Amino acid sequence: MSKYDELAARFGTPAYVYDLDVTAQSRDQLFSLLPEGFAVYYALKANPHPEIARELREGGCRAEISSTGELANALTAGFAPEDILYTGPGKTDGELDAAITAGVRLFSVESLTDLQHVGAAAERQDTVARCLLRVNTTQGSASTGIRMMGRPSQFGVDAETLPELMPLFKAVTGAKIVGAHFFTMSNAQDEDALLGEYEFVLQSAAQLRQEVGLPLELLDIGGGFSSPYAVPGERTDYPKLRNGLEQLLDLYLPEWRSGAVELACESGRYLSGTCGTLLASVVNVKESRGHRFVILDAGINVVGGLSGIGRLLPAAVGVEQIGDNPGQLVGPLCTPGDSLSKAAKLPELAAGDLLTVPNVGAYGVTASLISFLGRPAPTEVVVRGNEVISVSRLDYQRAYEVSL
Ligand SMILES: *Cc1c(COP(=O)(O)O)cnc(C)c1O
Repeated sequence: MSKYDELAARFGTPAYVYDLDVTAQSRDQLFSLLPEGFAVYYALKANPHPEIARELREGGCRAEISSTGELANALTAGFAPEDILYTGPGKTDGELDAAITAGVRLFSVESLTDLQHVGAAAERQDTVARCLLRVNTTQGSASTGIRMMGRPSQFGVDAETLPELMPLFKAVTGAKIVGAHFFTMSNAQDEDALLGEYEFVLQSAAQLRQEVGLPLELLDIGGGFSSPYAVPGERTDYPKLRNGLEQLLDLYLPEWRSGAVELACESGRYLSGTCGTLLASVVNVKESRGHRFVILDAGINVVGGLSGIGRLLPAAVGVEQIGDNPGQLVGPLCTPGDSLSKAAKLPELAAGDLLTVPNVGAYGVTASLISFLGRPAPTEVVVRGNEVISVSRLDYQRAYEVSL
C-alpha cells in the first residue's frame, strides 16, 4: 500500500496532505536563490495552515497577511508581530485596530486615504505605524504571469502622482513611510523576465527616492517565483537570479551592501505549492455518448484555486445605487482573478479508486469554493515524511450556529 493509500484509508477523502519536509526544502531553496540578507515574507494567502506557516517561520520567513483571519493564523504559527507585514487595498478600521492591538506595526499602503486610515488607527493606540508605499509604476517591462502594474488598479499609488502627493503622504500623523512595496508579477517561469522586472523595480525605486524623496529604509521588491499548480512538475530553478540581482542592486542601490537599505521579497506559491497533494476518490464512472466521466469526491469546492488557474469571475455586479461617477467595483482581496479536466489521460478506474493531484499546497483549500453546495471541507493532513503531525478540517458549517 502506498503512503497515500494508507492516509486515504485512515483519514478518508477528499484530503490534502502537506509534507513539511518539502515545505522546508522549498523555503531553503528560495533563500539560496536570493542575495544574502534578503527578508522573505510568506504570503499566507497561498495557504494559511499554521503548521506550514510555522515551518516557514522556523527557517527564517516573515509573514505577509491581509485579514484578521490571516493575522490569527500567523500568530498561531508563532510569528512575532514585528515580523508581520499587513497589506491589501481594503483595510477596514476594525482590522487595523485588531492588527495594531496584536502588535503589528508594518503596513503596505495603497493610497493617501489608506495611509490616513492606518495613521488614525495607530494614533487611537498612541503609537506610530511604519508604512511601505505600494507603487503602481507608469509601465511594466515583462509580459508573463499576472501583471499588476502600469494600469489603473486598486493596488498601489500611481507613480506619476507622487511628486504632488509625497508632501501629503509625509504630513500624515500616526504613520511614517519607511519604504516602498512593489508587486509586479506572479508565477514567472522565465528567469530573464523576472530579472527584467526586478531591474525595473530597482530603477523605479532609486529614481523615486532621488526625485520625490521616497524613503527606502525597507524595499519590498515583490515576488513572482513560480511553482507548478495541480500538475506534476518541479519548482522553477533560477540559476542566474542571485548573481543577477546582486549586480542590479550594485547598480541601482549600491548601499544595499552596508545594510542601509533593507531588502525584502514575497512568495506564496513557491514556498507552499509543492508540499501539498490532494487525495480524491472515484465515486462513479459513467459513459455518455462516447465520453467517459470519472466522478470524484473533490470538485471546485475542494480544488478551485482562483489564483492558481487564473479563473476570473465572469459576472458584472450591478448595485442599485446609481450616480454619475464611473468606477470599478473591486473587493479587498489580493488577486485579480465543476470541471477539473476536460481531457485527462486516465487508467481504468472504478468507484473507490484513489487519484492524487500533486502540487496543490498553495491556492488549494482556501482558494476554493469550499462552502458551495454544502459538502464538508476536505481533511488536511500534515506529515513530515512518514510521520503524521496533525489532522484537521475547516468547519465552516458551524458558522450558522453563531448568532450575534
Ligand atoms: C498574492 C500575493 C503574493 C503571493 O503571490 P505568489 O504568486 O503566490 O507568490 C505576494 N504578495 C502580494 C502582495 C500578493 O498579493
